[in-house]
Amino acid sequence: MLAHCPVFRMPHPLPNPTAALNLPLDALPAHCDVLVVGAGPAGSAAAITLAGAGFDVVLIDQQAFPRDKVCGDGLIPDAHHALRRLGLLDAVLARARSVRHVAVIGPRGGRIDVPGTLAVLPRRELDWMLCEAAVEAGARMHAPARFVSLLEEGEAHGRRVVGATVRTADVTREVRATWVLIASGAPPQALLAAEMCERRTPTGVALRGYVKNPAMVDRITELEVVWHPRMKRGYGWVFPGPDGVFNIGVGVAHSHAFADTPGRDAGQTMQNVNLRTMFDEFTRVHQAAGDLVAGGEWVGELKGAPLRCSLRGGKLSRPGLLVTGEAAGSTYAFTGEGIGKALETGLAAADVLIDGRRQQLPEAQVRATYEQQVRALQPRYEMYDKANIVNMHPWLVDLVVWSAKRSPSRLRRMTGLLEETHLPRSLLTVKSWLRLLFVHS
Ligand SMILES: Cc1cc2nc3c(=O)[nH]c(=O)nc-3n(C[C@H](O)[C@H](O)[C@H](O)COP(=O)(O)OP(=O)(O)OC[C@H]3O[C@@H](n4cnc5c(N)ncnc54)[C@H](O)[C@@H]3O)c2cc1C
Repeated sequence: MLAHCPVFRMPHPLPNPTAALNLPLDALPAHCDVLVVGAGPAGSAAAITLAGAGFDVVLIDQQAFPRDKVCGDGLIPDAHHALRRLGLLDAVLARARSVRHVAVIGPRGGRIDVPGTLAVLPRRELDWMLCEAAVEAGARMHAPARFVSLLEEGEAHGRRVVGATVRTADVTREVRATWVLIASGAPPQALLAAEMCERRTPTGVALRGYVKNPAMVDRITELEVVWHPRMKRGYGWVFPGPDGVFNIGVGVAHSHAFADTPGRDAGQTMQNVNLRTMFDEFTRVHQAAGDLVAGGEWVGELKGAPLRCSLRGGKLSRPGLLVTGEAAGSTYAFTGEGIGKALETGLAAADVLIDGRRQQLPEAQVRATYEQQVRALQPRYEMYDKANIVNMHPWLVDLVVWSAKRSPSRLRRMTGLLEETHLPRSLLTVKSWLRLLFVHS
């Protein structure tokens, strides 16, 4: 099936730019208050908030915008909340396709539609809107501009980050900054350069493509997530985006378990998992996915990317530097959802820096507050880690569907988890998770 695949072109035309993005590296200032490395959701959310509070912010990205980001493009409730706080929700929803349910689909065809506040917007467009908002708030965005190393002062325990070296193919510049914020996403390179990486290998890997098929618009109307034994340790999805274009993909959790051998990198991990074979299986076991691809036109490249999940794999701070978003492991392991928590942790980083300046707090206190706020999210990550049992045993999905169909209160609790109105305090064991799904209350 994939042999006939891609005629690559942009899945969605973008509206006209309204802000000055992609300033050349030549124009990089010598000083700023905060240097933000990475203009994905985490970095842009921080840049919007800091610039709005009067900070002198420089936002850099190794890619010129608008740029593609391998993602399912699904906006779950936490992303809606963060976008509302950033004042961007209405603009995003005006471009996105709104969706009312996550359809949980098991190997024997069991299906339950879990209600939620959901939408789909390609990242090329979402991230571009976020960057524009950062520039409109007063941040200067330089791209392409790759962070390569830190500038540091002091010796041993007194060592402090005071800026960074930034590079393009032919220009290298230094910028001094009171704070450096690393928001470089799942790949480990920037974390390694900042000496903040604790694990190179990803937590998961996933692959996605775009298919245009207007005839399927009335047939695939929800975020369809499918489990099947032929997609071992993972799942497949079809998410309906705007303009009759669907995001379709497969992902594997805990992929690093297969790549623990020293010297293996994310690319080799992906090869081992063989996501393309899994993708083909997905189009065979899920009729709607098969029909979508067979009758549709490929409009975006089928691409893979790593995921860094569960707040593991990187340190959160060191003097003069904070790590935020997926670089800090802010993506959920079970579902691979991470846009909302990237925005949230980016906002948290901005908030502590703003408070720190307003109240003239010592730097150690600013860092400690940030780490505390991020660690407070840990129970949710642990809950999603536990839910990974479903990826290992897909038949559990049919059981969950059967159980939820018998009890409106169980379905409400599933909605509560998705909307994050149900606190997961009691869900840290597999047993309590199963109780949530199967015990009537
Ligand atoms: C296949 C797949 C499907 C997914 N589906 C979903 C989904 O449906 N919903 C959801 O919520 N999440 C999903 N995710 C997760 C989501 O993509 C991430 O959680 C999210 O992108 C994290 O945002 P971020 O801002 O932390 O990092 P990113 O979005 O990765 O942004 C990091 C930025 O940093 C830049 N950068 C990196 N290194 C450097 C450097 N050295 N110098 C300068 N710039 C640098 C990169 O170019 C990039 O623009 C999916 C992930 C994958 C791989």
